[in-house]
Amino acid sequence: MSKKTRKILAIDDDSTSLAILEDRLQSMDLQMISAKDANKGMEMAVNEQPDLILLDIVMPDIDGFELCRQLKADNRTSSIPIIFISAKNESVDKIEGLDLGAIDYVTKPFDIGELRARIGVVLRIIELQEKNLSLANTDELTGLINRRHFFDIFEREVLMAKMKNYSLALLMLDIDHFKSINDTYGHLSGDAILEQMGKILRENQYPLDVVARYGGEEFLILMPETHTQKAVKAADRLRGIIDRWEWKTLDNRISITTSIGLVASASNNIANCLDMVKKADAALYAAKQNGRNCVICWEQVNGEVETNEPKAHEFYELQTKIASLTGRLRTQAMGTVSALEKAMSIAVKDPYIALHSRHVQIYAVAIAKEMNLSDELIERIGTAALLHDLGKMGIPDYIFSKTDALSQQEWNIIKQHPASSVQILAPTGVFNQELQIIRHHHERFDGTGYPDGLKDKEIEIGARVLAVADTFDAITSDRLYKNGQTYESPIREICDCSGSQFDPEVVEAFWDASEKYKAEWPLSSYDSSLISIQEPLLTKT
Ligand code: GH3
Ligand code: MG
Ligand code: MG
Repeated sequence: MSKKTRKILAIDDDSTSLAILEDRLQSMDLQMISAKDANKGMEMAVNEQPDLILLDIVMPDIDGFELCRQLKADNRTSSIPIIFISAKNESVDKIEGLDLGAIDYVTKPFDIGELRARIGVVLRIIELQEKNLSLANTDELTGLINRRHFFDIFEREVLMAKMKNYSLALLMLDIDHFKSINDTYGHLSGDAILEQMGKILRENQYPLDVVARYGGEEFLILMPETHTQKAVKAADRLRGIIDRWEWKTLDNRISITTSIGLVASASNNIANCLDMVKKADAALYAAKQNGRNCVICWEQVNGEVETNEPKAHEFYELQTKIASLTGRLRTQAMGTVSALEKAMSIAVKDPYIALHSRHVQIYAVAIAKEMNLSDELIERIGTAALLHDLGKMGIPDYIFSKTDALSQQEWNIIKQHPASSVQILAPTGVFNQELQIIRHHHERFDGTGYPDGLKDKEIEIGARVLAVADTFDAITSDRLYKNGQTYESPIREICDCSGSQFDPEVVEAFWDASEKYKAEWPLSSYDSSLISIQEPLLTKT
């Protein structure tokens, strides 16, 4: 860091003393300014904000002690260090000066070497104080300011906005599915992404913006003098920059997206910082619900959508292009998965493997529709269903072909498959939205599932749906070989596990879906002549 030139204010009624001071301190790379009486000195201290004041004591009208009192009482000048320079060399004067809050006391005629050394010490103290302050205000990983310092600035900006009558926008930005990134690539890679995110936000901020790390993978951006439309545009610009960024970790190209919630309030509508944070948070929550990688403002959440908000034409064009690219990649990848499943099905002589993902997709989508989930989420659950068992490709064939009970070690291998599926899919970067569902499709509602032991609503809704669909197909397929099977007993078995293995709301939707659709479900049209291999199934994990 380059050393900054410090500004020193000398206050002395004697011009000769001022001239000597200026002359002797020349070599110290200081900017010297001076005042010849207390009133002028006070005025300059306020306006110039010097780093240090050298103060004479004996002056007409107001003396140095009184001026020191005034400087210390005024919060605009109270933290500026003061060194008394005076001919008064009685101990009692020195004590009085130091008691008033001066940092040092030098007697005239002064030895220039000693004065320089004392000024040097004070400047070093100031430097250390500034460094400590900056450390205390900074988030170590991203170099952005931290939450505490952000709120100091935020409170000041709220006051300014009210006083000067301008609007204020607050953006809350959260990385999508960051936990999966950590789980897949490790925390160090996660840290590197956070660090890079800090850089991107800093490099793309507007001059008045205040950017902070709120905590974890969440960031706050305060935009003074910004109304809703402008804030949405700025937020969408950032979202796009992050989405298009060439993220890399462990040499893999990965896709990182963010969801942004924002609120912009006109000066007369700003309640306080907390209120704005709550609104931005609610908007962020809505952005996550909306499928992530999008911007939602508080007015939308609150039902006051500004329908004529112009959005950049180019942005939509780009978004469509990228979506079609991603779509093609996804289709290709799913085709590969299906081919792999068929190959594996043949290798382990189990036709069920090739059919399972497709069956699970049928059940999962039926349940999701019954639950009135959004179209986007239903599609995501359907895709996750097709991909969820990909990790089983890594399980040795003999385990699938084994007819007697599995050993503990063999079970442990089987239990790795949700995480393995994620590991295979994550580097493609095109299934990020599905990773969480896939990783957690063997979690149980009561918290005893794997791999993360999540419980209740900690498990993403898609994974709770997939768990029911997956188990249901495992049970019914187990019966495929026994002629005359119906859906009745498997449905009962699923219902029996409501509240323990499965989310009761999902089970209820499953029951309703089965009533409506079971006549069209695979078992009903099952043709036993298609299946020639009579092996027991092991997928009931
Ligand atoms: P969502 O899209 O809903 O935001 O999903 P998410 O996985 O991003 O959200 P969640 O809140 O479940 O997980 C946030 C993760 O961020 C969990 C935590 O391990 C990780 N995280 C928080 N702080 C740090 C950090 O300093 N370094 C790393 N590597 N990870 C962090
Ligand atoms: Mg997140
Ligand atoms: Mg978060």
